Amino acid sequence: MDLRYSPEEQEFRGEVREFFRSVLPREIRDKVALGRLPSRDDIVRWQRILNARGWAVTQWAPEWGGTGWDTVRQYIFREEMYLADAPEPLSTNVTLVGPVVIAFGNEQQKRHFLPRIANVDMFFCQGFSEPEAGSDLAALRTRAVRDGDQYIVTGQKLWTSYAHQADWMFCLVRTDESARKQDGISYLLIDMASKGVTVKPVMTLDGGHHVNEVFLNDVQVPVTNRIGEENRGWHYAKFLLGNERILTGRIGLSKSRLRRARDLAARVPAGGSTLAASHAFREKAAALEVELKALEITTLRVLDEVRRQTGTAQDPKISILKIKGSELAQATAELLLEVAGPHALPRQEDWASGADVACIGPEWAATAAPNYLYLRAATIFGGSSEIQRNIVAKNILGI
Ligand SMILES: Cc1cc2nc3c(=O)[nH]c(=O)nc-3n(C[C@H](O)[C@H](O)[C@H](O)COP(=O)(O)OP(=O)(O)OC[C@H]3O[C@@H](n4cnc5c(N)ncnc54)[C@H](O)[C@@H]3O)c2cc1C
Repeated sequence: MDLRYSPEEQEFRGEVREFFRSVLPREIRDKVALGRLPSRDDIVRWQRILNARGWAVTQWAPEWGGTGWDTVRQYIFREEMYLADAPEPLSTNVTLVGPVVIAFGNEQQKRHFLPRIANVDMFFCQGFSEPEAGSDLAALRTRAVRDGDQYIVTGQKLWTSYAHQADWMFCLVRTDESARKQDGISYLLIDMASKGVTVKPVMTLDGGHHVNEVFLNDVQVPVTNRIGEENRGWHYAKFLLGNERILTGRIGLSKSRLRRARDLAARVPAGGSTLAASHAFREKAAALEVELKALEITTLRVLDEVRRQTGTAQDPKISILKIKGSELAQATAELLLEVAGPHALPRQEDWASGADVACIGPEWAATAAPNYLYLRAATIFGGSSEIQRNIVAKNILGI
């Protein structure tokens, strides 16, 4: 295996880098560089810029707007995107629902939904998990009962990221109560403006509003919004979850976090020099760099194998990438937190007066703690590490 990039790939990298440098709006870039979350407007604006260039849905089939790039080019594109501090294209649209519509939707659904998904004219959220159905997703209880050309949907979803900002939700529902639990599930697209949809916030450890409860009370959903066959939704969900797990590794993001930690550590005084010069910091940063490089090579190898496979069954090796990628996301966020030191605290006690005072540090330090705290969830969402290890044990090790 030749691990060097070819001259053509390096030229491609230059083209992508120049594109990001010249068209990424500065205010969006500055926000991402500081570790802040882009707003819904930022995400939509940026994705439309990418879409106009033909680069919003790079991994889709070319007939639906994809680029036809091979694994290495896809990888280079994402790496440059993170290095440029660009937001990633909306993953629920581009990586999750879009490929399902392409693989399992009918022609009419493809023509209607795919251009709108690519351009974020429809902003999607993912309605899979429920209060009693997370790791054991097939236990979901949200019911859809057929009534003529509609389904009547009733139930509750939980942990639904961006539901408060979304226009649409792709959703798993139970359409057959009598079948084996995996066999009675269907995959619906639900308009969030439908009567009977209520969204309530769930605040997370970082103090942010990312996730929600979604209540569905007799919501009417046209049967034409069902993707694929009735009661085959579990098969489509497994395909989607494989794509989600490839994504949650986000090596490029961890690399750019490590790069930022190095840059910032060079500005933090320590022991008459800087934190970046200290042995302890260099050792930690180097260890993370090596692990990221190993994961990068493994990812390219697995993605290349996946690309050659036919059919829609997902490769269980993707679970290994998810475990390691999410752990490295957490480790790089922890390093940034260490660099920020006491400035990562929002408030501190003033020992002299006993008063609770705001802790004012450099602007970049303010996001270190919320990001660290939010990323505790990286080994949970998209399927917890324990569940990924079960998949590896069963499907790779044969235990
Ligand atoms: C920040 C965040 C965002 C999310 N966004 C979304 C979203 O947009 N859409 C969506 O549908 N869901 C979303 N989720 C839900 C996520 O997919 C679930 O939280 C996850 O699948 C775990 O399910 P659970 O929370 O019900 O935990 P449980 O399934 O109750 O698990 C609890 C613990 O038990 C362990 N466990 C469970 N079963 C086993 C087993 N068989 N073997 C070993 N260990 C086991 C788990 O690993 C975990 O540590 C999000 C979650 C978070 C935290």
